[in-house]
Amino acid sequence: MIDTDIHLKGHKMRALVAGAGGFIGGHLVKSLLDDGYEVLGVDIKPIEDWHQVHDNSLNIYNTDLRSIYYCNEVTKNIDECYNLACDMGGMGFIENNKAQCMISVLINTHLLISGTTNGVSKHFFSSSACVYAADKQIKDGYDVSPLKESDAYPAMPEDGYGWEKLFSERMCRHFTEDFNLDTRVARFHNVYGPYGTWTGGREKAPAAICRKVIEAKKNGTNEIEIWGDGNQARTFTYITDCIYGIRQLMKLEKNNPIEPINIGSSELVTINDLVSIVEEIAGITLDRNYILDAPKGVPGRSSNNNLIKEKLGWEPSVSLKQGMEETYKWIEQEYDRNTL
Ligand code: NAD
Repeated sequence: MIDTDIHLKGHKMRALVAGAGGFIGGHLVKSLLDDGYEVLGVDIKPIEDWHQVHDNSLNIYNTDLRSIYYCNEVTKNIDECYNLACDMGGMGFIENNKAQCMISVLINTHLLISGTTNGVSKHFFSSSACVYAADKQIKDGYDVSPLKESDAYPAMPEDGYGWEKLFSERMCRHFTEDFNLDTRVARFHNVYGPYGTWTGGREKAPAAICRKVIEAKKNGTNEIEIWGDGNQARTFTYITDCIYGIRQLMKLEKNNPIEPINIGSSELVTINDLVSIVEEIAGITLDRNYILDAPKGVPGRSSNNNLIKEKLGWEPSVSLKQGMEETYKWIEQEYDRNTL
């Protein structure tokens, strides 16, 4: 039995952050603590593997949230639940671990059930641009139509991970309609920044490219491996924009919007140009070795931000150059710390 009552007393707003040991969860915990929330951070990972641990006002539990028993325990006395817990990674991970990705459906399902039972007033679910239909993402390069929220249907999401996210989005919608649980869903578009995963096989393109450029520079190999032909186009969202978007979405009036909303930058870039940005930051030019049969995802994906601008009067604004400079600096420090 988890004694959440002992820690979460008082009159402050109380938030549960599921996946608090991860990249986005760690940044969100800090934002909530800074705002005076009491926070219960939960993750399946042992504390020494958490990306960030903040001050001692953070209450921490090591728990597997696929279990409804633990979801029932951690949602007691909680005002707002933020579900960022998911077994996921970059394309290399999600294309090769579809069942593992889909099992995360248990986390959101059980948090919704227990949140309803325990009277949680708001539930946030972190969905993904991987829910978008493949046939709306067939162009590469700079000829990509930004995805609006309705482009998730007719459904043809990323196999495994994308289906899990789309199903969980629907669960949120129906818990609002049927049980009056106030749910909010954001579709994140490639979030990156300091304290993200940068090695080990689950890292995403921005961190992987930074690491490869750093390795090439330090080892003097002068070469970089790129998955695909480099013409895949994406938008990348800096972590501070992602956190601001989540917080503002949760502050909207009840059930407004009930529909998922994109939290994504609209600054489109090809992977080749992302590599050039990182090369410029590192002050190096590398020979490019294209691995054409590596996992590369859809040809092109960008975020249409009309809905977020309408609802929040805001859209992500940190430039890719600025965000990548911060990310590169942090990964270089981590690289040095781990190789010394
Ligand atoms: P992350 O992997 O860094 O964090 C997820 C955390 O969930 C991890 O710390 C992991 O240990 C934890 N977790 C996994 N299974 C668990 C379980 N059974 N019980 C408890 N904790 C568990 O990922 P992130 O980048 O911080 O992503 C957070 C959320 O945002 C995820 O839902 C992810 O799908 C979504 N998302 C992220 C991105 C991105 O670019 N980072 C893009 C789209 C959507």
